[in-house]
Amino acid sequence: MPAPLWTQLIAEKRATLACTPNLPRIGPTTPLPGVWLAGDYTDPEYPPTLEAAVRSGLRVADLLISAS
Ligand SMILES: Cc1cc2nc3c(=O)[nH]c(=O)nc-3n(C[C@H](O)[C@H](O)[C@H](O)COP(=O)(O)OP(=O)(O)OC[C@H]3O[C@@H](n4cnc5c(N)ncnc54)[C@H](O)[C@@H]3O)c2cc1C
Repeated sequence: MPAPLWTQLIAEKRATLACTPNLPRIGPTTPLPGVWLAGDYTDPEYPPTLEAAVRSGLRVADLLISAS
């Protein structure tokens, strides 16, 4: 491969939450009836990844089904 003509490194320090030990997560529930949160930042176990996003979506889907 030839060397790239141009490069730039971007370090986005706010792209995700800080993965520090025992960091409390917001979770899927809200005080509003019928409103739940899904997103990587809500998963209580995984770091903010695609896996956490999918798990959070499945969790909220279960909550929606059990509430209906
Ligand atoms: C640079 C980078 C690299 C990554 N690489 C990996 C990787 O290799 N592997 C991995 O597992 N994870 C990776 N991740 C993390 C992964 O992208 C996220 O964990 C995942 O996309 C989170 O999915 P989400 O649905 O929770 O949120 P998002 O994908 O952020 O989706 C949220 C959506 O809501 C929209 N939105 C926000 N506010 C509003 C509003 N007010 N009204 C309407 N829409 C709104 C946004 O535009 C966005 O489309 C990476 C993240 C970054 C930033």
